[in-house]
Amino acid sequence: MVIVMAPSCTDAEVDDVVAHVRTAGGSAFVSRGITRTIVGVVGTEEVLESVDVGLLPGVGEVVRITTPYKLVSSENHQSRSTVSVRGVPIGPDTFTLIAGPCAVESAEQTLAAAHQARRAGATLLRGGAYKPRTSPYAFQGLGVAGLRILAEVSAETGLPVVTEIVDAADVDVVAEHADMLQIGTRNMQNFPLLQAVGGAGRPVLLKRGLTATYEEWLMAAEYVAQRGNLDIVLCERGVRSFEPAIRNMLDVSAVPMVHAMSHLPVIVDPSHAGGRRDLVLPLARAAMAAGADGVMVDVHPEPERALCDGAQALSGGLLDELTVAQAARRGRWPAGPVGAGPARSGPAAGRRASGGPAGSGASRRPRRPAPGPAGCSAGGRRRSRTGRRGRRPGSPGRRPGTR
Ligand code: PEP
Ligand code: MN
Repeated sequence: MVIVMAPSCTDAEVDDVVAHVRTAGGSAFVSRGITRTIVGVVGTEEVLESVDVGLLPGVGEVVRITTPYKLVSSENHQSRSTVSVRGVPIGPDTFTLIAGPCAVESAEQTLAAAHQARRAGATLLRGGAYKPRTSPYAFQGLGVAGLRILAEVSAETGLPVVTEIVDAADVDVVAEHADMLQIGTRNMQNFPLLQAVGGAGRPVLLKRGLTATYEEWLMAAEYVAQRGNLDIVLCERGVRSFEPAIRNMLDVSAVPMVHAMSHLPVIVDPSHAGGRRDLVLPLARAAMAAGADGVMVDVHPEPERALCDGAQALSGGLLDELTVAQAARRGRWPAGPVGAGPARSGPAAGRRASGGPAGSGASRRPRRPAPGPAGCSAGGRRRSRTGRRGRRPGSPGRRPGTR
């Protein structure tokens, strides 16, 4: 840390700053230039945190040289980390697809969604048993019954489970049923919850807060890491913006920026970013192009009947397109019905489906499967912002941000 004194500071003010640093347990080194005096501070992270001199008389500016997030920083950990979720890797050499319903609604719906997810190439199943909803009247999730469904579906499909935890009191029961604990955007700065999942012995998926800076996000990760758990995957899921047409604004820059700041894997949730199924594939491609380590998407066997976030759930043809795109990103042709499907002709055929680095999948150009339901809308009947039913032609529809 460097404390830059104001040009007009007095010797007594410099002495006072030095005394503050020493009282906090740090060492202070004074360097007097022609116009400026600088106090260099050396000490542990705890010392630097407790040196609070910004408002002392004569202090101009306090500059931190090292990052305050030590454990998750790339500073002390040069190579990028891979997190293993019951054997499924998320990290630099993989591109992991996590898919499943926004909420667990029933055993049948979750199993159908898990089969969809697996066919699409997903290696992890998502699904919320505890739903943090903006409205207290909206479906809040099935709780423990939902966790049991997830565990049964996981046993049947072989897909490890990622599920959200909203209350520190539920850590044990969620950890008993799930393979990875998700902290949602609304809880990114719920510090007791972060500490509780840090001690739960399960990998953690930490979503970025709605308005969190990269540093705040990494400090939240540091709370988990500080409890001895470095199996953390960061998830960019869009940030609050001024644009009402989309639920959130996907911050693509977060992927390369946070990769540079931290050794942790970074994935993207294009479903909660756009809030519309027609945006999921373009945003997933943007994530691939930016170097994300994976994507997490909502799928639902009957999106129009979903109890939560149906407007952004993939099904059918759009899911097939995502399958092809992520398989191309991985440089592999997908196995199963999608990859085995007949080649199509037309403008899309033979076009590179990946936004990934040149060469990934370039030698085997993926052909698109049959297109999905044409113009799959962003969510059936809905009330527009002016209170009318349906959407005005060309209108993006109600801001999908208040669910
Ligand atoms: C979710 O993934 O189900 C979810 C609620 O996401 P977010 O916390 O990003 O809104
Ligand atoms: Mn959701």
